[in-house]
Amino acid sequence: MGSGVAGLSAAIEASKHCSVLVVTKDKIDENNTVYAQGGIAVVLSAGDTIVKHIKDTLDAGQGLCDKAAVKTVVSEGPKRVHELIEWGAAFDKEDDRLIFTQEGGHSFPRIIRAQGDSTGREVEHALIRLVKEYKNITVLEHTFATDLITRDGICHGAIVWHAKKGTTLIWAKRTILATGGCGQVYRETTNPDVATGDGLAMAYRAGAVLQDMEFVQFHPTTLYIAGAVRFLITETVRGEGGILRNKRGERFMPRYHQQAELAPRDVVSQSILKEMQKTDHTNVYIDVRHIPRERLYTRFPKIKEICDSFGIDIAKDLIPVRPSAHYMIGGIKTDQFSRTTVRQLYACGEAACTGMHGANRLGSNSLLEGLVTGYTAGKDACESIQKSVRKLVPYTIRESMGLSKISWLDLNDIRNSLKSLMWRDAGIERDERHLLEAEEMIEMWGSYVMDKEFSNPTGWELQNMILVSSLIVSSALKRKESRGVHHRTDYPETDNIRWKKHITWVL
Ligand SMILES: Cc1cc2nc3c(=O)[nH]c(=O)nc-3n(C[C@H](O)[C@H](O)[C@H](O)COP(=O)(O)OP(=O)(O)OC[C@H]3O[C@@H](n4cnc5c(N)ncnc54)[C@H](O)[C@@H]3O)c2cc1C
Repeated sequence: MGSGVAGLSAAIEASKHCSVLVVTKDKIDENNTVYAQGGIAVVLSAGDTIVKHIKDTLDAGQGLCDKAAVKTVVSEGPKRVHELIEWGAAFDKEDDRLIFTQEGGHSFPRIIRAQGDSTGREVEHALIRLVKEYKNITVLEHTFATDLITRDGICHGAIVWHAKKGTTLIWAKRTILATGGCGQVYRETTNPDVATGDGLAMAYRAGAVLQDMEFVQFHPTTLYIAGAVRFLITETVRGEGGILRNKRGERFMPRYHQQAELAPRDVVSQSILKEMQKTDHTNVYIDVRHIPRERLYTRFPKIKEICDSFGIDIAKDLIPVRPSAHYMIGGIKTDQFSRTTVRQLYACGEAACTGMHGANRLGSNSLLEGLVTGYTAGKDACESIQKSVRKLVPYTIRESMGLSKISWLDLNDIRNSLKSLMWRDAGIERDERHLLEAEEMIEMWGSYVMDKEFSNPTGWELQNMILVSSLIVSSALKRKESRGVHHRTDYPETDNIRWKKHITWVL
């Protein structure tokens, strides 16, 4: 399930010996992957080493990374990226050599990119081209997975819905969740509409273990113009010399961190929030006016195009930005083979909690994680089918769960209220009072939404968003310390004695 970098990588690998059905709820190329800008972190340049990339990733993760998972992703990464290049992904080059950029937290220039700032689109379309060539991969677009089919702790497929074809049961020998993140539970987010955490909710309902749900990464700089989509202004803009200024035009980052604009993402997000509060303003600004116009336009063509459409010339004007929810570090707990705790069910990419990111994701590490864990999931799923003697035997399932019918509910109103609540009470800065308030509100909304039987994705997504939000809030309440992207103003210190551990949830 899912057609981003993780889902398509899994499909391609599994299709070597198995027939694969890819179910995706929108068109094939509508997902977080397509919007990825900055690049992929990978050890391919002379002088860089796997050891350095592992160390940078572990440092960012602040004690909660799974070292074996980090080692697997980082050391498999170069092979997977080479493969992607063979499949036609064109990364930016100078004199026939890949260009490498350095991003905050990386000790070496190891970020490759495509068309300046459209890396995800290039990766996605290279994978789609291959998927379309393979006869034993079928793609069902605009098909919404509502739930997994499980019996006795074993997954046998999923229930899916299509506007014209209705509900279908899909029986599968192995099921892979590559359904991405859940940025949509926040009012401010870089994620597209599809990122409502459906896979996390489905896995939880099926009895899988979820882990680290309090660790939601906020991206410090998204374009902030009321009414406009929250378009990301990639980290590399700061890497190229972009300066953050407050409403008064003052550069503020050197006051907060020695690395100034290149400080870790969580530090930049928190600093921006403080400046917004101090200056009583809705946003801060990125200033790139000192960078030569030609360089700006060729390096950031997509950002130029979007800003132009709002009358902002990046070579002359300040770019208004503020933080927004960006990446779910937690998710469905998986092992080194991308297996979840439910038999025959796999998870990969952003939906999974592989242990790669710990408490803070290093920029550009997630496309790499999607490529590698997607590959691993596809490979293990396929190999285990070949080894197994078990036949796929469909069985009868109850048609109705016996839930009550829909009453007069304004689903959009509840969705918007939930997103505002999450932003206000479970966002960049958290404390017990606000988290308890969020818990109470979510419980109240849940009491009249969760027992309803809906007939289309609007209701199912809302149920999933309520479930995922409640897990984020409960985990954030539980973790009484600040670590990585989780910042509690009432517990500002990192507490390695009591909290150097994971928080897990299982139904
Ligand atoms: C604006 C932006 C910029 C980014 N920049 C970078 C970057 O430069 N480098 C980097 O490494 N990472 C970046 N990231 C993060 C990275 O893009 C994602 O973490 C990664 O692409 C996730 O891939 P995925 O395959 O796991 O999920 P996705 O690409 O999000 O795919 C999820 C898929 O699941 C499908 N799906 C979801 N629910 C259902 C359902 N119920 N039924 C059926 N299908 C469903 C969706 O339709 C979608 O196809 C960025 C993210 C964003 C949003």
